[in-house]
Amino acid sequence: MTEGKIIKALSGFYYVLSDGKMIQCRGRGVFRKNKITPLVGDNVIFQADNDKEGYIMEIKSRKNELVRPPIANIDQAILIFSSTEPDFSPVLLDRFLVIVESSEIHPIICVTKADLLSEQERSEVNHYLEYYRSIGYEVLLLSSKTEEGINELHPLLNGKTSVFAGQSGVGKSSLINAFDPSLQIKTDEISSHLGRGRHTTRHVELIEVCGGLVADTPGFSSLDFTEIEAEDLGYTFPEISKKAEECKFRGCLHDNEPKCAVKNAVEKNEISKERYNHYLQFLQEIKERKPRY
Ligand code: GDP
Ligand code: ZN
Repeated sequence: MTEGKIIKALSGFYYVLSDGKMIQCRGRGVFRKNKITPLVGDNVIFQADNDKEGYIMEIKSRKNELVRPPIANIDQAILIFSSTEPDFSPVLLDRFLVIVESSEIHPIICVTKADLLSEQERSEVNHYLEYYRSIGYEVLLLSSKTEEGINELHPLLNGKTSVFAGQSGVGKSSLINAFDPSLQIKTDEISSHLGRGRHTTRHVELIEVCGGLVADTPGFSSLDFTEIEAEDLGYTFPEISKKAEECKFRGCLHDNEPKCAVKNAVEKNEISKERYNHYLQFLQEIKERKPRY
């Protein structure tokens, strides 16, 4: 028996990548009995009589599971924002970070189209991004055109399963093409899928890029906070989460509570006022959410 990873599911078959080979596998009844459906991204044990066809015998436990697109065991989300065209949106960056942090997936922030920035703009963008570095995020400034930063992102994909995310037009497919022009066909596929919207039913596939696997469908198409509770929001902001330990009240939401260490840190400019305002905005959104029952 051999271990592999499901990289595609289609018409009742699971395509398992193992040692550079692709084995077409069927599931076994045991999954139906246990009410578990194999997912793309699952690490599985399979049995094969030859190197083409086999049976999945066991699904290894998942470290996480994304609903849209349906993929298991995602290591990281490559969050793509353009520095310009469309304009860089700080609130969108924070919104993406909250969603990704709450899924317990490691985010990498990439800001594209650096070649379109003037000296002045570049230094402003860099200054802005420096704060994110200071709170522990990996941040890259990139250009698919001049290939600036591409060599830094490349090794980060190696050996990992990644999902790219970001608005349409920010440069996701151009970026993947910059890694490897032979992926052209695949990335044309990525862009055409991107444009289709999230209600289209289609299968998702992991493609091999830079020694790692990348989902051919962008992740986190829904940026609503439907799965996040008010008291958990603070944990998705690393700098707020850290300061919150010093708040007087347990369960402090860092809003109107007295002796709040977070508000205090914002006053002293230790925590970015802009990030804190986004926190309050998201908190309000969560509080106003209609109960789901
Ligand atoms: P996607 O929708 O996120 O996949 O975005 P695309 O990769 O299709 O890029 C959208 C547009 O931005 C295209 O016209 C690209 O040529 C352009 N673009 C993407 N990356 C860059 C970049 O680094 N520099 C410049 N100048 N243009 C870029
Ligand atoms: Zn507080």
